[in-house]
Amino acid sequence: MKKAFITKEKAEEIAKQFPTPFYVYDEKGMRDNAEAVKKAFSWNPGFREYFAVKANPNPFILDILKEYDCGTDCSSLIELQISHALDFDGTHIMFSSNDTPFEEYEYACKIGAIINLDDITHIDFCEKACGGKLPETMSCRFNPGGVFTLSNGIMDNPGDAKYGMTREQIAEAYKIMMSKGVKHFGIHAFLASNTVTNEYYGKLAGQLFELAVELKKETGADIKFINLSGGVGIAYRPDQTPNDIAVIGENVRKVYEEILVPAGMDDISIYTEMGRFMMAPYGAVVTRAIHEKHIYKEYIGVDACAANLMRPAIYGAYHHITVLGKEDAATDHKYDVTGSLCENCDKFAIDRDLPEIEMGDLLFIHDAGAHGYSMGYNYNGRLHCAEILLREDGSFKKIRRAETPMDYYATFDEFPVYEKLKAEN
Ligand SMILES: *Cc1c(COP(=O)(O)O)cnc(C)c1O
Repeated sequence: MKKAFITKEKAEEIAKQFPTPFYVYDEKGMRDNAEAVKKAFSWNPGFREYFAVKANPNPFILDILKEYDCGTDCSSLIELQISHALDFDGTHIMFSSNDTPFEEYEYACKIGAIINLDDITHIDFCEKACGGKLPETMSCRFNPGGVFTLSNGIMDNPGDAKYGMTREQIAEAYKIMMSKGVKHFGIHAFLASNTVTNEYYGKLAGQLFELAVELKKETGADIKFINLSGGVGIAYRPDQTPNDIAVIGENVRKVYEEILVPAGMDDISIYTEMGRFMMAPYGAVVTRAIHEKHIYKEYIGVDACAANLMRPAIYGAYHHITVLGKEDAATDHKYDVTGSLCENCDKFAIDRDLPEIEMGDLLFIHDAGAHGYSMGYNYNGRLHCAEILLREDGSFKKIRRAETPMDYYATFDEFPVYEKLKAEN
């Protein structure tokens, strides 16, 4: 059973100040989880989680994670600038980008971020952006090609993915960079997304640890860290068993001791770049039922839409829904829960068994804390909603205001129409 982290009364209290829809975040949940992640890898003295900023770039959230010594994983200028402005120092910023614009390497260099190169051809490009001298520590992203499978049937196709370098290229890249004065190296790979199995990190770590041993033999490079990246999933569906981060940490420790320790490489730091696992369960969209429609199917129209939470529309992703105040009611009605976009994919749920929904009911859309707000967009002139942080003591705080029409029109500001629109608002 999935339980909402907020009651109907609390949601109504928030809605009085901040009209629906809004995002709400569970501060205690995210803190407990960040602590559990730290503990799971405490066997590795250099361990650090670099939170994937793209999953949730809210500065208040990044600041909370910072208290647990998390760094940030960035792949754009904006993400780098937010991290820098929040006083993450260079060693706490991982720049794992791809198809990277010149000025983004320039900026990453300037703030001393750890640069994780996506391709061998980026060495010269990055060197120029860094003013002719590469940083002393560099990382390379690995793509083993082929197919990556786990025993529960999860499968991903690194061979079809645009990311990373081949085995041969990484060895070559290390040699080139050593000749250019780079002293310390990292290896990074992201092979499967949203893996709901404790097996993923251990299996990936095994591959990367073996690669590290070989690369060290072959190139003499000083390998300082191995970055297992993201991909640790969460149980979006109520019938799934959530990952256990303690078991995951232990699985990585086992292969570390099997592969790295005997090779004399027992000072390597483990890094992670989890986004989803750090935040998804601790954020939700709260939205109100505003219409019901009875045609060939039963529809409930809510005041949020795919522009607020895109995953169901683009991936057909399942997000559990709780009708607040009806947690214990029988789920004896079948609905499609829709937003207002002029796109038929704008459905938060299809043929979902839910309690009978009355107009005005509040729906809690679970697991939207990662790749939720941050994927939002302005299609159909829909605006981003507010983000609210719910504290353990029940108090709440706005951590991002809702967009206004003037935010949407801001980029019209050089044109006469802007003044007219301003007068409307
Ligand atoms: C998206 C991404 C992550 C985070 O992935 P999750 O599935 O949210 O854990 C980490 N690293 C890189 C390079 C990414 O692109």
